Amino acid sequence: MAESTLYIVSTPIGNLGDMTPRAIETLRSVHLIAAEDTRHSSRLMQHFDIKTPMWACHDHNERAQADRILQRLSQGENIALISDAGTPLISDPGYHLVRKAREAGYRIEPVPGACAFVTALSASGLPTDRFQFEGFLPAKSKGRLERLEQVKEELRTLIYYESPHRLLDTLQAMIEVFGEERYLVLARELTKTFETIRGDSLAHLKQWVESDPNQQRGEFVLMVHGAEIVETEALDADSMHVLTTLLEELPLKQAVVLATRITGLKKKLLYQTALDLKED
Ligand code: SAM
Repeated sequence: MAESTLYIVSTPIGNLGDMTPRAIETLRSVHLIAAEDTRHSSRLMQHFDIKTPMWACHDHNERAQADRILQRLSQGENIALISDAGTPLISDPGYHLVRKAREAGYRIEPVPGACAFVTALSASGLPTDRFQFEGFLPAKSKGRLERLEQVKEELRTLIYYESPHRLLDTLQAMIEVFGEERYLVLARELTKTFETIRGDSLAHLKQWVESDPNQQRGEFVLMVHGAEIVETEALDADSMHVLTTLLEELPLKQAVVLATRITGLKKKLLYQTALDLKED
């Protein structure tokens, strides 16, 4: 008997033209498809005339389903995992299944295709040599701010997924943590009719999104430019004296604002120096 295989099959993120011939062939040939949402995926199956039976495998039943799927693999069957869109396991279910299948020694074969963040990044104009995929931010404001704080100084491009109803809150939280000047690229409705990719400072982008409700609809990838390396040693002795004196009397933010006015130096440089001084 041939070795059973679990196929991890990517599906389009909007445009059905992005379904690969290999994905179609794989989904037609396996015994069973484990799908995040069978009703959602039935439209895809109909479009490509795929008649393979489907099982639901989503966040809430994945651990139990993984055991049932492993059982089917043990009977010599081949199974494909798909999610609602894009690459399974990327902010989608499948982790437990793949881990268990790998532990059990089954062959796992990826069938690559669309993935929203890779698609977005490739067209963003942001550095792509090193990046950090952060998935979805926590829904609650406190958790969201904490998560952003953790990567505030990250030099690599940061990538987030976001849903329409949280978009404005997330942009506001990013302004609070990264500052309104930080550069962001927003990619909306990729591969679909209203695809929009726009880059600007966080403050300008938020204004733009607020002023046009159409820009608040659909699916989003947010990509934030990594933090700039600030050359703290560039601060001259007089400016350092101004800053340290102000820091002795005032809260950090106020001291930095005043020092910026007095010295005419960049706020970012003074802010970073002030942080370093406080830490010391
Ligand atoms: N597994 C998928 C992938 O490979 O990208 C991602 C699934 S995750 C549950 C869904 C999120 O991906 C959306 O909320 C959005 O942030 C992003 N996304 C998916 N399709 C998109 C599209 N066509 N345009 C922009 N973002 C998209």
